Amino acid sequence: MIDDYESKRKYMVESQIIRRGIKDKNVINAMLKVERHLFVNENLKNEAYEDYPLPIGESQTISQPYIVALMSEALELNKKSRVLEIGTGCGYQTAVLAEIAKEVYTVERIESLSLKAKQTLNSLGYQNILFKIGNGALGWKENAPFDAIIVTAAAKKVYEAYIEQLSKNGRLVIPVEESRFSGYQILKKIVKSNNGQIKEYSLGGCRFVPLID
Ligand code: SAH
Repeated sequence: MIDDYESKRKYMVESQIIRRGIKDKNVINAMLKVERHLFVNENLKNEAYEDYPLPIGESQTISQPYIVALMSEALELNKKSRVLEIGTGCGYQTAVLAEIAKEVYTVERIESLSLKAKQTLNSLGYQNILFKIGNGALGWKENAPFDAIIVTAAAKKVYEAYIEQLSKNGRLVIPVEESRFSGYQILKKIVKSNNGQIKEYSLGGCRFVPLID
């Protein structure tokens, strides 16, 4: 019997991801595979495939599925990529990255969230994820450089550490506060070229919980 979650997941990918223009096969397949309902609390499982973010405790949220897809696609990942993720949260985005990339280094400042995400991801059998509890504004210097860096909390600025820890041809995707009071951010994609030059693109408006430095 096909479980209800599987059909919900397929519908989510069709209607929220593919129909809105996500083309990267790796991202689509990862989101068809990763069981998003396993990353939220029991009482929210029925809403796990809906088109909005959900609370995950500690006043934090799991991102809307489309945003996970958009950011993952923008990172241009393949089987060789080493990725840094800031803001582990419940670990759903981490799982999507781990399906596609070689290694995922994920940093979370709230210990209870990091431990719970680790438990979930370990129980699903992922062996290519390294966890750290601490301030992700500093990146993760010991393991740099990274082919891709994803920040899943709203930053006041693009921290220098991220640019420094990006490899040549590396991609950084980060929501950056536009104005101190708006509560909205611009999702930026920043690319470091082969000769170290930085190029910046906008992927549109978004809304994340704040990155606490
Ligand atoms: N990708 C996660 C998003 C969680 S929300 C998910 O889908 O579940 C953003 C997360 O960033 C929160 O868990 C929050 O605690 C974390 N965060 C905020 N500031 C941080 C910082 N300076 N360093 C590391 N993590 C941070």
